[in-house]
Amino acid sequence: MSKFGFLKKFKGSSNNENSNINFKIENDNCNGEECRKCVIACPNNVLIVENNQTSVGNPLGCKSCRVCASICPNDCIIFKDSF
Ligand code: SF4
Ligand code: SF4
Repeated sequence: MSKFGFLKKFKGSSNNENSNINFKIENDNCNGEECRKCVIACPNNVLIVENNQTSVGNPLGCKSCRVCASICPNDCIIFKDSF
């Protein structure tokens, strides 16, 4: 398994190695279009909301700054070292 192989189980992340994403998104608690705080806060335009769910639109752009995780009111964005 490649060093990014674990990403395959992450919803919204790429299934190839062209990704810097090391978090998962728990959309069950996401407020979607009503919120979009993570989308607005991300300095690198990584996240998108579509069909009322958050996902990764630009997997190469993530710098793991964790601004998205810290601003989410429902703790939907969970980094790998937290589970
Ligand atoms: S960790 Fe930072 S760069 Fe990556 S998606 Fe979240 S806010 Fe954007
Ligand atoms: S900040 Fe959290 S609740 Fe709001 S859109 Fe992003 S993932 Fe969903």
